[in-house]
Amino acid sequence: MEETKFIGTPRKATTHVSQNEGLMFEKSSAGKKGYRLPLLDVPAVDAAALLGEAVRTDGLGVMPELSEIEIIRHFTRLSTWNYAIDLGMYPLGSCTMKYNPRINEAVARLEGLAEAHPYQPESLSQGALGIMKMLSDALIEITGMDTITLQPAAGAHGEFTGILLTKAFHTANGNPRTKVIVPDSAHGTNPATAAVCGYQVANLKSNALGMVDLAELEKMVDEDVAALMLTNPSTIGVFESDIHKISDILHAKGALLYMDGANMNALVGKTRPGDFGADVMHLNLHKTFSTPHGGGGPGSGPVACKKILEPFLPSPVLKTNPDGTLGFDYNRPQSVGRVRAWYGNFGMFVRALAYILANGPDGLRQTTEDAVLNANYLRSKLEGTFELPYKTRSLHEVVFSDKLQAKNGVKTGDMGKRLIDYGFHPYTVSFPLVVNGAMMIEPTESESKEELDLLVDALTQVAREAEENPELVKNAPHTTRLQRLDETGAARKPVLRWKAPVSSTELTANTAAKEW
Ligand SMILES: *Cc1c(COP(=O)(O)O)cnc(C)c1O
Repeated sequence: MEETKFIGTPRKATTHVSQNEGLMFEKSSAGKKGYRLPLLDVPAVDAAALLGEAVRTDGLGVMPELSEIEIIRHFTRLSTWNYAIDLGMYPLGSCTMKYNPRINEAVARLEGLAEAHPYQPESLSQGALGIMKMLSDALIEITGMDTITLQPAAGAHGEFTGILLTKAFHTANGNPRTKVIVPDSAHGTNPATAAVCGYQVANLKSNALGMVDLAELEKMVDEDVAALMLTNPSTIGVFESDIHKISDILHAKGALLYMDGANMNALVGKTRPGDFGADVMHLNLHKTFSTPHGGGGPGSGPVACKKILEPFLPSPVLKTNPDGTLGFDYNRPQSVGRVRAWYGNFGMFVRALAYILANGPDGLRQTTEDAVLNANYLRSKLEGTFELPYKTRSLHEVVFSDKLQAKNGVKTGDMGKRLIDYGFHPYTVSFPLVVNGAMMIEPTESESKEELDLLVDALTQVAREAEENPELVKNAPHTTRLQRLDETGAARKPVLRWKAPVSSTELTANTAAKEW
């Protein structure tokens, strides 16, 4: 790329010089080995005799044969194409892309934890169970709830579990009810959860401040409503200041308040959902509590709830035996059942607990304050450059829109792509849906003022380009291996496997490319 494309502002993250890397299959040559095994000292077994019909006959194709250094280089080169939290900031709003402190990894790799097996008897798992108990107690304290399950594997899975609890509660009271209310600013997983749990989704319009409209809510809540699913602070980063009244309106009709806790990074140590009326909520350990995040997991989405929902918690439930040891209680006749194999993503519990203990109560509170300070710093630096649709005070994230740039045909997605050329991951594009052309930014507490200033410079520069040279932004990114992808095609017709050519002589880069 010609340097003239970058007017003044330094680029940060750079990509590997070679943006081409063949598949392992293409690099393979027969007979190469990455390992050496000792000679077989037991009788050889005929796989077909041993496995019978299970033997694979569908032409597995050519298995790649490479030396160790070739494999190491292959994956190391590929890794340099990735953007990573260790390389630079992710301003993705709603995602809380905070740094994962190395202490978490050091602790999670301790042999007794990393090698623990879920079928180890309880008597030999007291340390692991102790970690789950300590984490449970810490999260109950942080949320102000009465009890918790660590089973769910992610936020959306936690929502599913929480609404199953809600349904089991209403069913036990004689009527499962038919509707779940979801505000128009909600994350897409909220209405999806309600629908998957068999509820009709009733859409609640936000008021001019971007908050729940109390009068509207009052009209909608009746004895047919099972719950309201509410994100607080909301998806535009605004605290629902009438949260007590919201919970009173629901409780008056026997409905429950489900709180989507994805935005707990704005609340930890400052206020507790259990105290402001939430009955059930999920936490995203991979957001608020720093466990690794991205690439699809592994996540962890514990669900904390009030006493009224305890009988329905997924089985088994962690218990303290009369002799003080820990174990699991499987005798849960009213349980909604297991929602995940084993007991949840144990490695994530270790990391989250390490993070909580390393920070301590004061450190966690400071984290919240720094996250809010960082978001407000960005807001004050960028207001004017970008339109700010809701002027209500921001907590941990801020939502701008592309209104000022859209008059030149430059949209939020274009500016997000252009940010890649400046060495940043894009912000969250076009979400929440209540803001047309949304540009949603959440810096988290991890970022220094220097890093925030670089982001401000980059975004200011992108806004100037949108004025002076819109095409440059509309065709971005210019520095990546691939430019604009067919996102619809990638979602609708994903190609998830490589197909081996019929014979190894056809194994060239070209045929492989066509197979893709
Ligand atoms: C991230 C998020 C979710 C879903 O959590 P996952 O762990 O990605 O399944 C739900 N609601 C909100 C507001 C979120 O930001």
